[in-house]
Amino acid sequence: MALNRTPLIAGNWKLNLDHLQAIAFVQKLAWSLDDAKHDFAGVEVAVFPPFTDLRSVQTLVASDKLPIAFGAQDLSAHDSGAYTGEISGAFLAKLECSYVIIGHSERRTLHNETDEVVAAKVQAALRHSLVPIICVGETAEDLETHGPSAVPVAQLRAALAGVTSAADIVVAYEPVWAIGSGQAATPDQAEQVAAALRAVLVELLGDDVAAKTRILYGGSVKAANIAGFMREPNVDGALVGGASLDLDEFASIARFK
Ligand code: PGA
Repeated sequence: MALNRTPLIAGNWKLNLDHLQAIAFVQKLAWSLDDAKHDFAGVEVAVFPPFTDLRSVQTLVASDKLPIAFGAQDLSAHDSGAYTGEISGAFLAKLECSYVIIGHSERRTLHNETDEVVAAKVQAALRHSLVPIICVGETAEDLETHGPSAVPVAQLRAALAGVTSAADIVVAYEPVWAIGSGQAATPDQAEQVAAALRAVLVELLGDDVAAKTRILYGGSVKAANIAGFMREPNVDGALVGGASLDLDEFASIARFK
């Protein structure tokens, strides 16, 4: 973690917690973080609930001025029109979402999202001043065939097609083999790919943007392994799935120091 980048600990709830459970969870998370203010000073904590929870989370965070950011797990590449079931970046911006996750491996695999779709969604997020958290990562087979960085690097290049140097983005390196498997990458592995991803940012967006862009690691992150990732110079936080649903575990991850 570099000193000039604010670490981001992001909880991807996936298809879990309805809006009532979300209210209770976010309230308790805020208490827990408040109890340990000193431990997580300077760390940004964000949650990514299902769409149907966002209005409730927004209301709670705004009314109680909670130090928790939030965003959506996906968005439409389109802003409006005949797209049944889609949610636009405009709607998310109106709900005061700061972030939106794009190109998660579950979207790529289960919903056939191609690199082109991911790039169009990145553009949609930026049109509405949402910070995209662009997910990239290789499968076990990719790792075997192409080595660790080739696929994540290619996915990032594709996702950034048409992005200008002014953009505020976050990149999440999530090896598919590590997601939900209990088998996280080692800090060394994460650092190696994060460094390769930062080199792509330098090349495409310039030194300044690359230096300020946060690169997260994701895949079986838990309280017991977060510190190792956070010691790496190019890893600036974590995208946490399963462990983000356990309040104590997630709060411990946010106090990684
Ligand atoms: P996991 O999921 O922490 O449960 O491995 C990470 C993710 O899918 O973002």
